[in-house]
Amino acid sequence: MKKICVLGVTGSIGTQTVDVVRNHSDEFEIVAMSAGHNIKLLEDIMKDIAVQHICVQEQRDKEYLEKKYPHQCFYSGTEGLVQIATLENVDIVLNAIVGFAGLLPTIKAIQSHKDIALANKETLVVAGHLIIPLVKEYGVKLLPVDSEHSAIFQSLNGEHHQDISKIILTASGGSFRDKTREELKNVTVEQALKHPNWSMGAKITIDSATLFNKGLEVMEAKWLFDVDYDDIEVLIHPESIIHSMVEYQDTSVIAQLGTPDMRLPIQYALTYPRRFPLINGKKLSLSDVKTLHFYTPDTNRFKALDLAYKAGRLGGSMPCVLNGANEQANSLFLNHKIQFLDIERLVEETMNAHQWIENPTLEQLVEIDQWARYYVLNRVGED
Ligand code: NAD
Ligand code: MG
Repeated sequence: MKKICVLGVTGSIGTQTVDVVRNHSDEFEIVAMSAGHNIKLLEDIMKDIAVQHICVQEQRDKEYLEKKYPHQCFYSGTEGLVQIATLENVDIVLNAIVGFAGLLPTIKAIQSHKDIALANKETLVVAGHLIIPLVKEYGVKLLPVDSEHSAIFQSLNGEHHQDISKIILTASGGSFRDKTREELKNVTVEQALKHPNWSMGAKITIDSATLFNKGLEVMEAKWLFDVDYDDIEVLIHPESIIHSMVEYQDTSVIAQLGTPDMRLPIQYALTYPRRFPLINGKKLSLSDVKTLHFYTPDTNRFKALDLAYKAGRLGGSMPCVLNGANEQANSLFLNHKIQFLDIERLVEETMNAHQWIENPTLEQLVEIDQWARYYVLNRVGED
């Protein structure tokens, strides 16, 4: 029985993880979980599955839950996340928190010899240079949950690293893939939140529309698969059937295909190297799909990809700046404080204003993340 700690259990990935675990309850058990502010949904999940250790973001929510459920153990804040991610009986931490907040619990979990199933891509973007050496030092597994990275991981099974020619990351193109730059000026939050293929949390849905999500995924791929930025290509593929591919030296291309369903990469990260049935999973019928489309992203229309390659190639503190500025600008757009195209403008301005550091420590990353957020707030007069 694999014992799992799910961070961000009330989110899109978190709730789908609960579904996967419930469908294979003879193999998996959630022994600890965390939620942010959605206490109502957390209580619904608690009715569904018996979990002993539970962390919430706010101390007052912890006190409320402690009174109501005296037989379970409650924790709060970042300290609480670290406590549940490092519990003695946890085998694997599935990190489905959104944003920079996922970094510290990941580091502490690795240092407590836990395997990591990582949905929280921001962790690798800002601190790949700290995470990858730690994974090696502690001999733990780092398993991708992001669908593209799971596809690449599956396409690399049994292959030799030196035989890779390039990685081809597919992208749906997000809600605005067919809009001109002019049309992008006035798009609304509601339009941005309508993703054509996937139902996901708000932050990543906006990131998909700006293409910052793909930019973050390029950096995530660099760290997970140890490839140069020159060997990572992004390809728009509107149907989201090919989840990504690897091209080898002999020109062979190996891909992973399937209907869009995040439960598959979640489950594979938990069952690897085995494959279990995906309960209620829709099988792919290529004769129904008939046609698949592919095209190169237009970086004049969306600057985010260029910014991400630039930040990634520079490395050091710059990916953390891009990520922090993007998290802040994304949230301002979601709250109707700025326009859609302001997101990439603010990220670029923040990157230009940053004093670059080559090899930031965790403490420096925390400061740089804060600085980037304040810089964005300051630019729009919201500080
Ligand atoms: P979501 O917003 O639906 O859920 C986020 C979860 O984290 C919630 O439980 C929330 O309460 C919790 N949380 C948020 N901020 C927190 C904080 N500061 N401290 C503690 N808990 C906090 O997000 P999601 O769409 O499930 O995405 C989670 C992560 O997975 C992101 O990094 C995202 O990029 C990645 N991801 C998601 C999908 C998807 O299909 N949703 C696909 C690939 C990767
Ligand atoms: Mg993805």
